Formats: sequence, C-alpha cells, structure tokens
Amino acid sequence: MRKKYAAGNWKMNTTFDEGKKLLSEVVNMVKDELTDANVKVVVGVPMPYLSTFGQLIDTDKVALAAQNCHPEASGAFTGETSVSMLKSVGVKYVIIGHSERREMFNEDDAFVAAKVDAILAEGLTPIFCCGETLAQREAGIHFDFVRSQFTNGLFHLSADELKKVVIAYEPIWAIGTGVTASSEQAQEMHKMLRDHLASKYGQDVADEISILYGGSVKPNNAKELFGMPDVDGGLVGGASLDSRGFTDIAKSF
Ligand code: PEP
Repeated sequence: MRKKYAAGNWKMNTTFDEGKKLLSEVVNMVKDELTDANVKVVVGVPMPYLSTFGQLIDTDKVALAAQNCHPEASGAFTGETSVSMLKSVGVKYVIIGHSERREMFNEDDAFVAAKVDAILAEGLTPIFCCGETLAQREAGIHFDFVRSQFTNGLFHLSADELKKVVIAYEPIWAIGTGVTASSEQAQEMHKMLRDHLASKYGQDVADEISILYGGSVKPNNAKELFGMPDVDGGLVGGASLDSRGFTDIAKSF
C-alpha cells in the first residue's frame, strides 16, 4: 500500500515563537487523533527553526522537512544550506522544485535534478514538485509540460532511487489562490504521471510512488481530493499554518 502524506509547507511565515506553538499543537493533535498508521505528517518549517523544532517532534507520525537545499556538499555558496547540514539537525524530507523557487529564483530542471541526487545521497526523501501555469493549461500543453519536468528531473534515477522520491503535483494556478483543481483534474494528471513513470520503470514501481496534490488544499476539500485513486495526499501551504485545519487535513484519508 502506498504511503499517504499530509505535508505542510509553511513557506516564509511565522516568528520563532509562533512556529514553536504551531508545531507543538500539530504534534500533540496528530499524536492524539491520527489513527491511520499509513499516513505521515510532514512539516516544512523555515530554515532557522529546523534544529530546535526537530526536538519538539516526539512521534514517528510527524517528520521534519526543509523547504530547500543546495545540491553541493559544501563550499563557497553564501547563504545556502547543504543536505548534510539538514540531515545533521534531524531533517527527513526536503521540498524541491517548488514553483516559487523555479519562478522567483530561476531554478531549472537540471538544478532540481541535482538536488534530487544530493538528497538521495544523504538518505533523505525529496518531495519533488512539478506543475503547470494557467497559460500552459489553457494552451493544452499541461500534460506535456509536467511530463517534461518529470523526465528532466527524475528519469536519470534507478528504479530503487525513484522509489525513495515523493512527488507533489502542484498546478501553479491553484497555489495560494484559493482555486483548487477539481478532484477530476487532479486525478487525471496524477494518473498520467503514474503512467509516465510506468512507461520507464514498470507498473510495479509506479504503483509504489506517492503522488501528492498541492494547490489550495483545505480541510473542506481534502477528503474529496484524497479520495481519488492516484492522489496520495497533499502538499499544503496556507492551510498548514493552522494546527486544527492541518490536522483535520491529515485525518481526511
Ligand atoms: C504550496 O505552497 O505548496 C501550496 C500548495 O500552497 P497553498 O496550499 O497555499 O495553495
């Protein structure tokens, strides 16, 4: 059975104290209320908080994520953070290829692919984001575009490596906009992506890969989205800043 995920991406939000309170609440609620052992809650907190916040997590049900990394192991990369640094403070997952980084920081497929390799080399789990713009969807090239992000970012991996990757399909037009892809639109893309993986790695491998949906996931739409056969959970931005709502999303499988 594929692992299910509720992964939060706090982005550049919360002060240290606010974040500490939010994470403590999430950890406590998840410990008390989440009964499905196949669901993993992942919390992507701001970089400066990782070291301290890792110590607030005292349950296997919750794991710490970073929102970014640099692919190089060390060196003259001012302001950047290597995967081994993240690992050393208890990070288990790293969000990469997020559209905000691709668009605002000009991160291309090759750079994202290098991050995948660096994360896997340290034994952490990449959460590989992909997704099309509204213009690409309206032009009817959304499948081709996302397929190319996959091919360029992941298809150099062996099957065993690929199995360690979590994927997040995030249509850019749905991120932070309050507009959610319909469950049918999400399912259609997820199925296409799983078929694309199967075309290279075989159906057995493709069936093992968790593909999350991201884009205005909220407590009131999570159940319908997560009910689709190829949607294995969500990457959640805005709604992950509310402990009650985020925990409810994690309970929506
Ligand atoms: C995200 O940033 O990955 C995201 C999906 O944001 P939101 O849930 O706010 O749309």
